[in-house]
Amino acid sequence: MNIVKNIEVMAARLERAREIVKLGLIYPIYGDPERRYVCKSHSGQQDGNGQVKLYLVSQKGCTCADYRHLREVNGGWCKHRLARELILGGEQDDAGARRAADKNGVAHKGRTQPVGNGDRRRAARTGS
Ligand SMILES: [Zn+2]
Repeated sequence: MNIVKNIEVMAARLERAREIVKLGLIYPIYGDPERRYVCKSHSGQQDGNGQVKLYLVSQKGCTCADYRHLREVNGGWCKHRLARELILGGEQDDAGARRAADKNGVAHKGRTQPVGNGDRRRAARTGS
């Protein structure tokens, strides 16, 4: 597949992945060390019993048909795996934001602390 087509395919999947997250169709298997997720069919596909289909989504793959198709095309980034990625990415961003805040706290403290000898003397005088 050419790159433009591939990006278009991925962009459409990502859009649907965002909807899946927004609609709350995907939820984690709590306590699963592999951090797998269960995702309800976004298009409302049903199984033989008239239940909405559920897909098992992991870092390695997904049980949906699209994954099997996309595996050959782009490594299997179906909308379910992208949705999982969005969620996990969000968690990482939160943690990253906290780390940045901590670092800024330290950096802020660092700015008020003297770096050179002169600064240290001045800091001693001013008590800052
Ligand atoms: Zn899938």
